[in-house]
Amino acid sequence: MSEFSEISARVKQLRELIEYHSNAYYNADSPEIEDDEYDALMRELRELEQKHPELMDADSPTVKVGGAASGKFASVEHEVAMQSLRDVFSMEEVEQFCADFPNAAFVVEKKIDGLSVSLEYTNGVLTRGSTRGDGRVGEDITENLMTISTIPHRIKTRAAFLEVRGEVYMPRKTFAALNESQEENGLKTFKNPRNAAAGSLRQKDAAITASRGLDIFVFNVQQARGLEFDTHAQSLEYLRECGFPVSPEFAVASGFEEVAAAIDAIGNQRGTLEYDIDGAVVKVNSLKLRQSAGVTTKFPKWAVAFKYPPEQKETVLRDIEVTVGRTGVLTPTGIFDPVLLAGTSVGRASLHNQDYITQKDIRIGDRVVLRKAGEIIPEVVSVAVHGGGEPYFLPENCPSCGEKVFRLEDEAALRCVNPDCPAQLLRNIIHFASRDAMDIEGMGPAVIEQLIGNGTIKSPADIYGLSEEDISSLERMGKKSAQNLMAAIERSKGNDLYKLIYALGIRHIGEAASRLLADRFGSMEALMNSTSEEFASIEGFGDIMAESVRDFFSTHHARELVERLRACGVNMNRLGGEGGRLPSSNRLEGMTFVITGTLEGMTRDEAKALIIANGGKASGSVSKKTSYLLAGENPGSKLTKAEELGVRVISLDELNEMIK
Ligand code: NAD
Repeated sequence: MSEFSEISARVKQLRELIEYHSNAYYNADSPEIEDDEYDALMRELRELEQKHPELMDADSPTVKVGGAASGKFASVEHEVAMQSLRDVFSMEEVEQFCADFPNAAFVVEKKIDGLSVSLEYTNGVLTRGSTRGDGRVGEDITENLMTISTIPHRIKTRAAFLEVRGEVYMPRKTFAALNESQEENGLKTFKNPRNAAAGSLRQKDAAITASRGLDIFVFNVQQARGLEFDTHAQSLEYLRECGFPVSPEFAVASGFEEVAAAIDAIGNQRGTLEYDIDGAVVKVNSLKLRQSAGVTTKFPKWAVAFKYPPEQKETVLRDIEVTVGRTGVLTPTGIFDPVLLAGTSVGRASLHNQDYITQKDIRIGDRVVLRKAGEIIPEVVSVAVHGGGEPYFLPENCPSCGEKVFRLEDEAALRCVNPDCPAQLLRNIIHFASRDAMDIEGMGPAVIEQLIGNGTIKSPADIYGLSEEDISSLERMGKKSAQNLMAAIERSKGNDLYKLIYALGIRHIGEAASRLLADRFGSMEALMNSTSEEFASIEGFGDIMAESVRDFFSTHHARELVERLRACGVNMNRLGGEGGRLPSSNRLEGMTFVITGTLEGMTRDEAKALIIANGGKASGSVSKKTSYLLAGENPGSKLTKAEELGVRVISLDELNEMIK
């Protein structure tokens, strides 16, 4: 490739990456990377476009305001565009900016990390509130904004029409409490206060917004019919008099020196404030001067946003603690001499995995640089000096059960695959007994938890040694339910081989792969004595799956478990015929299906396997490419989506017709 085509490919790749992360951040309120990583992508793209103007594109994220109005709310066209701000990352850039406005005064404000909104007042009454969207068209969220108690519904003003812009945020304490309660209720937690604010504000049900304790700071007059201001500071004072919570402790500064001092002062408070900030905003104070400076398509030329580097501190790594999680992954945690970072004391940080430790060459006793990513999660930036220790390697054996650990090819993590490992036992047994696996009706998480808790079950094989008393003595278990459960356990012994393979919980081996293995080998005996080449030769089997099966059966624990199950009378053979085999054809070739709701007589996974066995594809989400939505009882939001997109909705009977 020539140098130019390499650059052009990189520009394309950067645009795609940025679009992807912008969508996750603005539209799904669920970012996947840290802000400084996103900023670095944006900076690289901007630099390449500046060097190669021929690669410029009017659709590039460097010239567009991120975000879009979702179809969830009515749209609002902004009379005055809600623009973004130009980011700067050094004091030199701030100095250059100030130099463009000789003798001017500036206002320095905290850049509140929340969600930009517009509030419109007609004759002093709040008539409409909206999100920024793409800057031109936002979403009408009036009802939601009305629930924020610090937003006045009525103000005393001479302006016939007043539009105010502000940032809705979630105070840190509220955020911590919200995440705690989300976790307790088994709901999704939010990554940071900004996402929590965005997710809470853009709710269809305003009662949810009301319960989330949001707040606002306003920072600009967008329009004021019947009022005149000379300076930005004056307009902020006016908003304060009207009863708005205004950009906190904004400072008027004349010249770069005072601007720099104000930026430093805000930087020193960072982390100790009750809300998150992600920089400081420097704005020209004179409104006349602003007018003549003008705007670009994305931001005003009269303001810049200074981004602080994440706060960093040095400390000593005293130890590395390794724990094994419920999924068998070994996680190393660094134990440090505690340091104060972004307002809290930090003494522990995840070291993620062996690659992370090796890349940074982290050793016990080192002096390391710590920072808080996104101001919240502490991480090791680098090693400052080694303390004389040896390179660190994670243990080769599981800290919980002592069995050898494995690293699967596609994973960074080391994993304990022992099905009897105490750290993973609960999860493994729930899986073992589940409907798609051994299908032991009545053996749910509550029963399993008690049986593990009182030491009756230490391995999936112990299920087959349970007595009626073991079960009837459990909480909320009568004689009748104990008998039913005993019968279900007995029945499960006759399951087809594929259900047993799936129940063993081998990494990467789902139900479909279990069927393939059962079909190919016919018995557990033959399966256990096969090589990874034989596994890899099965159509539809990749190297990673093959390796995973081989690793699993190479451990002493797995072989012992199989022998114990066999001794209890659990079937180890493919039953064949209609008993376990799915009807197969190529009638669904070229079609993509999405499944929602409860299907009668079939689990969703079984339906998925049926679709695949007949040449179709199964996908997790509805899009324009979806051919059919297979819907059962109580369908979820996928049904609405399919109806919106005009995707055909079918029942299980209709699917069966299609493959007959
Ligand atoms: P921005 O957030 O950098 O700046 C513009 C916004 O600042 C305005 O919308 C305004 O509402 C807000 N603001 C807060 N206080 C203000 C004040 N006192 N005065 C004026 N404005 C104030 O710009 P952007 O284009 O909305 O977003 C870029 C930011 O979002 C970057 O920080 C970027 O890192 C982050 N981002 C992150 C991801 C990710 O995946 N992590 C993706 C997209 C964007």
